[in-house]
Amino acid sequence: MTAKLIKGTEIREQILEEIAAEVAAIKDKFEVVPGLVTILVGQNPASLSYVTLKIQTAHRVGFKEVQDSQPVDISEENLLALIDKYNKDDSINGILVQLPLPGHIDEKKVLNAIDPDKDVDGFHPVNVGRLMIGGDELRFSPCTPAGIQEMIIRAGVETDGAEVVVVGRSNIVGKPIANMMLQKGKGANSTVTIVHTGTKNMEAHCKRADILIVAAGVPGLVKPEWIKPGACVIDVGVNRVGEKPSKNDPKKMVAVLKGDVDFEAAREIAGSITPVPGGVGPMTITMLMKNTLKSLKFKLGIQ
Ligand code: NAP
Repeated sequence: MTAKLIKGTEIREQILEEIAAEVAAIKDKFEVVPGLVTILVGQNPASLSYVTLKIQTAHRVGFKEVQDSQPVDISEENLLALIDKYNKDDSINGILVQLPLPGHIDEKKVLNAIDPDKDVDGFHPVNVGRLMIGGDELRFSPCTPAGIQEMIIRAGVETDGAEVVVVGRSNIVGKPIANMMLQKGKGANSTVTIVHTGTKNMEAHCKRADILIVAAGVPGLVKPEWIKPGACVIDVGVNRVGEKPSKNDPKKMVAVLKGDVDFEAAREIAGSITPVPGGVGPMTITMLMKNTLKSLKFKLGIQ
């Protein structure tokens, strides 16, 4: 059996179209559009390209988008004042501070200064607490886990009562997705196990999984024989394992990316599987857009 591919690139297009349609309808009725500001400190090339992609996507779905670039030597005090300005700005519904920040700035202090109701990354402790409580308390799920759950739902995978095993317990992927999958409700209500470097016999846990979510950052960590036949495998890992000439410009070298799962062998056993690249990756910015729209909808009382 060859597994069905769950393609983030295709799901992204569907969701962005849905967001753009909703933005247009809100604009017609309320004469307002979601506002997203991305704050970039310094000119780190990787950060700059992430921010540019976020801004382009925001523009595409009809948001007001602001790119606020600050010098690398901005003081912590001035950065906090800038966040305070956007916290008070009625036209802004989402504030994103691109990480990493320069060493002289306390990242935690800066992220915690964002108004939780505009924290579209979902990393503020208030939103982490809301996620844990779930139900009506939930405001913003962090973007990568939100993307994972959306892919599972749109692939039509049964989550109700499913055994979900999450490999990895980071604050940005493992812990939040585990929490989300155990909540009552659509796309969840699963029985969840988290495994990590302290786990004894990881293989035995993975073998039980109806849905296996792998976010370890170790290429090929999950072996094909650890996969239950027919399982849904979500490979979050993005590992640079080498370089190859670019398809568009063979003189330019691009990274060879591999996931945490041995994809070619796993797709012969799994029922459905995400590729790397083109799987979970494209979902993160998409869900950032969804969270920003959600923020405006909360404000308008139309959630
Ligand atoms: P992280 O903070 O480094 O956490 C990795 C987790 O995996 C840790 O909990 C660690 O366990 C566990 N782990 C590592 N090696 C293991 C092993 N041999 N056996 C069992 N558990 C192991 O990583 P992250 O930020 O969650 O990211 C994980 C991967 O997802 C990376 O490849 C990253 O690039 C990718 N990622 C992709 C996206 C996206 O596509 N949009 C977004 C975020 C992350 P301990 O806690 O015991 O150390």
